[in-house]
Amino acid sequence: MKATFLFFCALFYSFGLFAQAPYFTDAITKIDFSTDFQQNPQVVKKTSRIVLSPSTHPLLSQKLAIPLQNPEPFITAALQYDGPSDEQLLEQFAIRFSKDGLNWANWIPIYEDMHIPDESRQSNFTGQLIFAQATNKYFQLAIYPKANKSIEFDFIQVVFSAPGKSQKITTTTPSVNTRSVCPIPSVQYRGDWCSLGECPYGSNPAYTTVTHLIVHHSAGENVSADWAAVVRSIWHYHVDTHGWNDIGYNWLIDPNGVLYEGRPDNVRGAHFSGHNTGTLGVCVLGNFHDANPKISPSPAAIETLERLLCWKSEKENINPLATKYHASSGLHLKTIAGHRDSGSGTACPGDSLYIQLPDIRIFVDSLLHPVSIFSPIKNSGLITISPTLAQNNIQLRYTSPYHPNLHYQIIYPSGKIVQQADFQEDTAINITNFPKGMFFIKVIGKETLDIFRIIKN
Ligand SMILES: [Zn+2]
Repeated sequence: MKATFLFFCALFYSFGLFAQAPYFTDAITKIDFSTDFQQNPQVVKKTSRIVLSPSTHPLLSQKLAIPLQNPEPFITAALQYDGPSDEQLLEQFAIRFSKDGLNWANWIPIYEDMHIPDESRQSNFTGQLIFAQATNKYFQLAIYPKANKSIEFDFIQVVFSAPGKSQKITTTTPSVNTRSVCPIPSVQYRGDWCSLGECPYGSNPAYTTVTHLIVHHSAGENVSADWAAVVRSIWHYHVDTHGWNDIGYNWLIDPNGVLYEGRPDNVRGAHFSGHNTGTLGVCVLGNFHDANPKISPSPAAIETLERLLCWKSEKENINPLATKYHASSGLHLKTIAGHRDSGSGTACPGDSLYIQLPDIRIFVDSLLHPVSIFSPIKNSGLITISPTLAQNNIQLRYTSPYHPNLHYQIIYPSGKIVQQADFQEDTAINITNFPKGMFFIKVIGKETLDIFRIIKN
């Protein structure tokens, strides 16, 4: 009886292992212009090429079935065509989805994926990855030609895929270098977000010395119940649709602040429009540009981004406030830059993330240093205050040539004065033994009263 029970346990266990479905299901729909745009006077088929006549109206495909069986947990779609990438010829592609073929969701514009090197985008177009609910059964394409030009295509196709539900979610906390100011946040490594092993690292990686940290957004969905599946989708799209040897980014961050490992640290990525040498690429998952009203990255995502950028800045001795020449692009770039700074015409990382980069640089700098001095609460203009970081000191200096007797007080937020002394021209206050957090320095003189708020990190 006991043996029989064990036998069945073993059987079920084995069955469980062998019945493990792979993550990815894929299918490609090639748009057949002779039937999928049937009897449309705008479409002329010439041998293997398709010519669309000029029109002021969008050209609509038939309503076509999505060729996936039981996709989980969502569907992705990537449009590809061989034809004009010239904006003078083509206004826009768009796609929409339906669960029943009768009721249709809004049209989703399809923008070109600008992470591809410029030279590869001359004749081949790959659209950004589009996400849709798994319950959708039908799709329809719209082409908006420019009114005065005819367009020729060799082919148009939509690559559909589903990444499968994540098998397990684990997060690894890397061993922390206790001497580090900015330890790396917890990470989902490759085996965590792709536990069936279907997303291998690229073979023959090229290594680079990182001087610039490039921030992206995924331009994908802002809500998901399975972010590891979103990361797998991006891996699959980069590897199987673009033909790259690994996911393009070095790191990805979801709205919960979870950090995912992409290409390993210091492996040259594929994200900066072909100018990847010297860069780290980090992608904040979500669309921070097109949503209306605009969506900003979550505070948790920004915090992880800042800690990652701080970790890498410390590791590579990068000044997060600096601008440096970036040889691969030939540009003088901020060391923490947005993808759009490449000049490739992309909106990435989206307006509502891009406008946060100045604050992110300052915050990363403040994380790197033991003291941050925030704007004075009250300032006579005669007292300057600066951190001298090596000694963990704060320097107070009276800038007038006349030096009256001055007095400073260190005050905790409770109002308790924990240290005070007189000084004349300048003085250094050692803060080594003060606890982390906020305190105030009050400087009192005959004609001056200054209050500074200090954050010790
Ligand atoms: Zn980007």
